[in-house]
Amino acid sequence: MNLIDGILSGNRRALGKAITLVESTRADHRLEAQALMAALLPHTGGSMRLGLSGAPGVGKSSFIEAFGQFLTARGLKVAVLAIDPSSARTGGSILGDKTRMEQLAHDPLAFIRPSPSGCTLGGVARRTREAMLLCEAAGYDVVMVETVGVGQSETAVADMVDMFLLLLSPGGGDELQGIKRGIMELADLVIVNKADGDLEPAARRAQAEYRAALHIMRPKTPTWIPHALRVSALKALGLEDVWAQVEKYRTALTATGELEQFRAGQAKAWMWSEIHDRLTDAVRAANPAEVQAAEAAVTAGTEPPGLAAERILARFLQP
Ligand code: GDP
Repeated sequence: MNLIDGILSGNRRALGKAITLVESTRADHRLEAQALMAALLPHTGGSMRLGLSGAPGVGKSSFIEAFGQFLTARGLKVAVLAIDPSSARTGGSILGDKTRMEQLAHDPLAFIRPSPSGCTLGGVARRTREAMLLCEAAGYDVVMVETVGVGQSETAVADMVDMFLLLLSPGGGDELQGIKRGIMELADLVIVNKADGDLEPAARRAQAEYRAALHIMRPKTPTWIPHALRVSALKALGLEDVWAQVEKYRTALTATGELEQFRAGQAKAWMWSEIHDRLTDAVRAANPAEVQAAEAAVTAGTEPPGLAAERILARFLQP
């Protein structure tokens, strides 16, 4: 079957194969992947792109399982992709190889793809971005990109989605000190999970604290003031409020043209990060011995980094 036709007709096998193709680092695969992305570009842009982050154990997979089913029950097609910084470093995974989102995985309206492993965070992010566009071309209404709230992967996710959701536990203020304030600033919506049973009062308090914390942060745009909600992934409570916020966000930022502007800016930044990475690789590969010597001199403090960079670049740019 033709991969393009397969994707456009929403065939999951074709989508899976295409994602495997964009994840490949082989040069001929890269060329094929780029041709595929170019052909599908006119068919992208139709999904709501959501990022979801939270510390390990906060309930990300439980939330996606519940929220995903909430959406598919309304006839929406949902794709879930993961960026796992631990898989980038070690090939292992914080997001886990355990069977996650088991019910959603069997839902014909859902598509779940774990994180590609064994390359840099930048590499994982790039492939996830392409996978996201492939899901869009395959007609998914919502694409969720999940990551673990432990490092730079949040920024990578926030840079590729329309709306960034931060999942927190009822730990409240204690936790606020643990998670980086910077991550909170990325959030377009804060969701306190586990608001059920004995944890309900703590979840209420946490919600109030996060609400206050959000209040004193400068919003990314005057169009949208981030809220803090309370949900229970386990009991499937509060999910309609989350979806209502997502729809409200989309409507508001579409009306002002900001959503389109965000996406345009993201595409431009993506191109430059692509150029940056490729150039860096090329510079390293052009003269490995010299690069190694320069790194040694710079770490030993015997040559100023600026001068070393200048020398390496001058050599690289020589015709
Ligand atoms: P992840 O590491 O962020 O993906 O978290 P998981 O979804 O694996 O959940 C971690 C633990 O929290 C599991 O034991 C879940 O059963 C529990 N959990 C998740 N959501 C809820 C919830 O809404 N309420 C309660 N009480 N427990 C939850």
